Amino acid sequence: MMSEKINCLIIGSGPAGYTAAIYAARANMNPVLYQGIQPGGQLTTTTDVENFPGYPDGISGPEMMIELQKQAERFGTDIRNGWITKVDFNNQLKLWVNDEHELECKSVIISTGASAKYLGLESEKKYLESGGGVSACAVCDGFFYKNQQVVIVGGGDSACEEAHYLSKLCSKVTMLVRKDELRASKIMQERVKRTENIEILFNTSTVEVKGDGQVVTSILTKNNITKELKEIPATGFFVAIGHKPNTDIFKPFLDMDSTGYIINELGSTKTNVEGVFVSGDAADHTYRQAITAAGTGCMAALDAERYLAAL
Ligand code: NDP
Repeated sequence: MMSEKINCLIIGSGPAGYTAAIYAARANMNPVLYQGIQPGGQLTTTTDVENFPGYPDGISGPEMMIELQKQAERFGTDIRNGWITKVDFNNQLKLWVNDEHELECKSVIISTGASAKYLGLESEKKYLESGGGVSACAVCDGFFYKNQQVVIVGGGDSACEEAHYLSKLCSKVTMLVRKDELRASKIMQERVKRTENIEILFNTSTVEVKGDGQVVTSILTKNNITKELKEIPATGFFVAIGHKPNTDIFKPFLDMDSTGYIINELGSTKTNVEGVFVSGDAADHTYRQAITAAGTGCMAALDAERYLAAL
């Protein structure tokens, strides 16, 4: 089968991918961008983005991603639906879309981001897969639990943000925090602590997501200090415990840390493979912000441009 020749391939459609595309398209690099299975990336699962410079009144995550896509398209980015399933960086830069369509690339910018983590309980998996009440996205699924009681696990900014979002829809939100403190920023901590229908249970872990076989009915929790078990009535169980980088397919070829974050050359977006660059959360476990992802997307396009010019 003939492979398609691509000058600059961008994988991913979050702020990193779209920013790389804007720069690459304006530099006449004819970028082709594959959106992946979640067009717009993680920001499509968030409510208001209040910390991205240039939006003094904030903007909703999905809206911002549509604007970024339009901006990338305006300069001629070829934006496609599809999922990169296979990679071969041995001699050339070869990649496959949905296992069949072969791409032969001169340069590749990886902006595949990260995905939500789950606790790993059998019962969690069961009700996640059946759509019976387990979710990692309050903004996507909160609506289904209107006027109901829900439980959310996690103590970071995501958990606080989602708990606050849910508190406006649900009658009660119980937060399960495994330590005796929240990891979230002070402003987010204050926001949840001030909210009347949010109860925070510290030193508490999840033992089981209980249900009637179809839908979730309660969460069995354990106090890590007293070992006391407690069953909390809930129809929704939200998980907000962090993320895992989407880098598995690159593992045989790229240097990564133990979690799977791609290691780039200091002060650049270069990976250990010539012509392959990385931007956004796929390489960033520290900042993980839309603005930093956009910044490294820009860097990756500039690095790729210099690389292509030198070929
Ligand atoms: P974090 O890694 O910051 O927090 C994860 C939370 O989940 C921690 O409280 C952690 O507990 C807990 N946790 C992890 N694993 C488990 C487990 N197995 N069981 C129970 N609890 C667990 O992830 P976030 O997604 O919250 O945030 C990621 C980054 O994005 C951060 O830098 C954050 O600041 C940023 N962010 C910013 C927002 C904003 O500015 N509006 C909104 C959302 C995120 P422990 O503390 O004990 O490790």
